[in-house]
Amino acid sequence: MTQRRAFPIQLDSLSGNQPKAKAKASASASRPSGAISAPRPSGLGLDSLAVRNRMVQKLAASGIQDAHVLNAMGTVERHLFVETGLVNQAYEDTSLPIGLGQTISKPNVVARMIELLRNGAAGQLGRVLEVGTGCGYQAAVLSHIATEVYSIERLKGLHEKARDNLRSFRLRNVHLLFGDGMEGFAKGAPYAAIIAAAGGNSIPQAWLDQLAVGGRLVAPMVTPTGHQALVVVDKSSQGFKHQVLEAVHFVPLKSGIS
Ligand code: SAH
Repeated sequence: MTQRRAFPIQLDSLSGNQPKAKAKASASASRPSGAISAPRPSGLGLDSLAVRNRMVQKLAASGIQDAHVLNAMGTVERHLFVETGLVNQAYEDTSLPIGLGQTISKPNVVARMIELLRNGAAGQLGRVLEVGTGCGYQAAVLSHIATEVYSIERLKGLHEKARDNLRSFRLRNVHLLFGDGMEGFAKGAPYAAIIAAAGGNSIPQAWLDQLAVGGRLVAPMVTPTGHQALVVVDKSSQGFKHQVLEAVHFVPLKSGIS
């Protein structure tokens, strides 16, 4: 199992608030005070809680209202998905490189898209398809708002990275797939929701076909003016309703695998 990355220096001040985890307490109890410090509080899942709570407050202040989304954003440890050197920026509202020229989206964009995807649903969504697993962060967030998450990535290196990143979370409802997401994933269809983390010039037909009646798709798309915008598509028995929302900046949706 890969070693979970420790959260950095500024959080050491929080260690006084750490719960009395038995293993930690006994490890440090045997040390004279002032001696070599105890192991960093990595992997407890609580070492970055205060920082995440601050991020959630900012998300709420910026207009995210859905409690399910705020709760999911407050639960997933984003710092475990970014490169060690970028851990200090993990809870800032910024996109970050994840390797192979790809980026993890800003928390605000992730929250906004998932809020749109949920569309005020009372409980959890059913099966959700995510196109563009990347480092696996958004899949982890989705796992808290959906019964099943199918997440597909076209770059083998990132598919494997996501698998490593997610292993210790033991999210039984997340299914990572390696393939061309432009074809969707027919075996998991129909989907209550489809979310894309990469933008093309149009919405692939496979996504529209694999969306359940009553389902919703949220994706970046290049509009006729040449700019990328967030697009919401609702499928009903009468057909599809498209809405074009705010401008966004996502990596391109590409066909094929690599
Ligand atoms: N949700 C991701 C964001 C990753 S960036 C995260 O939380 O990290 C978008 C990803 O979409 C990239 O990894 C890119 O390789 C992938 N992508 C682009 N076109 C794709 C396609 N046709 N099928 C699957 N993945 C694709």
